[in-house]
Amino acid sequence: MSTTSTSIIERAAATEAAPLTEGVAVEARPLTTADRCDACGAQAWMRVFLVSGELLFCAHHGREHSQALAERALFIQDESSRLTEGA
Ligand SMILES: [Zn+2]
Repeated sequence: MSTTSTSIIERAAATEAAPLTEGVAVEARPLTTADRCDACGAQAWMRVFLVSGELLFCAHHGREHSQALAERALFIQDESSRLTEGA
């Protein structure tokens, strides 16, 4: 009985939390092994949302371009800390 109302609330809460910038759909889904660095093709650990689209970077290139990206990015999803967690 209560399961139906709970799932509706969860869905509504998830929808509200999603948009960060008005007019721009920013969806920070987790990075996977299928996500590749746009600079070198290594596994991506950073996703950078720009007005024109999104870019993926490995930890190396994400750090190398971090200053330029910080100036232009709407949002930066940085999962490079996951690299050290597992090692
Ligand atoms: Zn790279």
